[in-house]
Amino acid sequence: MGKVLIGGAWPYANRSLHLGHLAALISGDVLARYHRQIGDDVIYVSGTDCHGTPITERAKKEKISPKEIAEKYHKEFSEVFNKMNFSYDLYSKTEDDYHKQKVQEIFRKIYDNGYIYEKIDDDNFCEKCNKFVADRELKLICPRCGLETKGDQCDCGYVPTKEDLKNAVCTECGSKVVTRPNKNLYIALSKLQQEIEKYVKINERNWRKNTINETNKYLAEGLRDRAVTRNLDWGVDIPVDGFEDKKMYVWIDAVLGYLTMTMKVCEENGWDWKQWWSEGDNKIYMVHGKDNITFHTIILPGLLMGFDKSLKAPDRIVSTEYLNFNEQKFSKSKGIGLTILEALERYNVDTLRFHLLRNGPESKDTNFTEEDYIMTHNEITNKLGNFINRTLKFKGLTTIPCSKMNEEVETEIKKKYNEISSLIENIEFRNATLKIVELLDYANKYYDDQKPWVQYKENLEEFNNTMYTCATIIANLSNLIEPFMPDAAHKIAGYLKIDKNEWKPISITEDINLENIEPLFERL
Ligand SMILES: [Zn+2]
Ligand SMILES: [Zn+2]
Repeated sequence: MGKVLIGGAWPYANRSLHLGHLAALISGDVLARYHRQIGDDVIYVSGTDCHGTPITERAKKEKISPKEIAEKYHKEFSEVFNKMNFSYDLYSKTEDDYHKQKVQEIFRKIYDNGYIYEKIDDDNFCEKCNKFVADRELKLICPRCGLETKGDQCDCGYVPTKEDLKNAVCTECGSKVVTRPNKNLYIALSKLQQEIEKYVKINERNWRKNTINETNKYLAEGLRDRAVTRNLDWGVDIPVDGFEDKKMYVWIDAVLGYLTMTMKVCEENGWDWKQWWSEGDNKIYMVHGKDNITFHTIILPGLLMGFDKSLKAPDRIVSTEYLNFNEQKFSKSKGIGLTILEALERYNVDTLRFHLLRNGPESKDTNFTEEDYIMTHNEITNKLGNFINRTLKFKGLTTIPCSKMNEEVETEIKKKYNEISSLIENIEFRNATLKIVELLDYANKYYDDQKPWVQYKENLEEFNNTMYTCATIIANLSNLIEPFMPDAAHKIAGYLKIDKNEWKPISITEDINLENIEPLFERL
């Protein structure tokens, strides 16, 4: 029994979640369910990222406060994860008081340890608005493509230099900005370069290609110290004197959320949170899309090293590529793609989960189309739904007596537990779903080969053995599909009186009553 911490990326509270977000996050729930099934002590946390300029900008647009915007999306996200059956032990938000207090304590400790220091820089200042303006609050003509762009990055990919920004204007009032000395706190990542390199070297064998490449590209450039404070009035206060006019940079506040939420879960249960975060044979998984990689492989490890050297940085990084919609990027403003709530009005939760895992952007960008999803749904309906129907709703049958299990089938089931188990631990979720389909094909072929509809008339003993064997397959399917399709798994468990879906072969020891069996899926 090991300790397993799983952190799902914290979605940003400035727009609805779409299927692409879900494709990046769903494997976290598979891991959480699977590790609980094998008996590990799992803590699975995430929350809504409430702070930062995209949220204040959005609030301005909608003419409400940032707090109201954050709250609106936090509610929506909580509903989405609930409906998608994400089994978080805690889904919170960065506006949570406990989080804010703990994150300040951690920040202060890193400062006291000498890894956060003060520095004065010349920053862009708008005299009309009377405030420092961040790069993304500036606009200028892009020197590469000649179109108007924000100061942080142009759509053409160009990142404006400090020199370029001298010609920029404030997006809010349109006046030209000046530079002024500005005092900020910085995290000394350069000081941690070697330590972070060592951490990456030890752990990268468990990582995907995109994680390894992105992280090493960053390290090869040499880590630069990054500002951890900024001039904003929305966010977490800085627990250091002289920074009353500033807030914590949003990325620091958000990635430390994995830690603060572990602390909260542990405090509520009387556990020691360090057991999940200290060096040892515990596992720490971080699950997110590829745009978030270095926050989890460089920034978070850096913060942890600055906070407490006895802590362990995430050893399992699960970074996905992008999911597109009909070959285009999801974009709410352009009307491309479905939000998750829209998808849930039309689709089945289990088969949507399964489809996103089977066609998920695990090692390359993939594409979502409704036709493909419907194909998956109907395939599962045919292979899983039908297998259950033809066994548990066999015409004229009210019980399946406890009989003799076919040994070959028994061996095949055992094999599948092992195969799927190593695939999940190897973060190969797509291949794991293919193994499920393999088992469904195997089960249906067994049924067809046995011809129970003939056995029923000719040899009742053989008929009973066949039906008992099929019911045993279904019982084990209930365990094996739990990480992927929890609703179906639990319904089956109910039919077959299985108390708890554990990750081990089970046999049925009592006659099975076949009343009240409902079809699991309907064709779309
Ligand atoms: Zn450009
Ligand atoms: Zn201005």
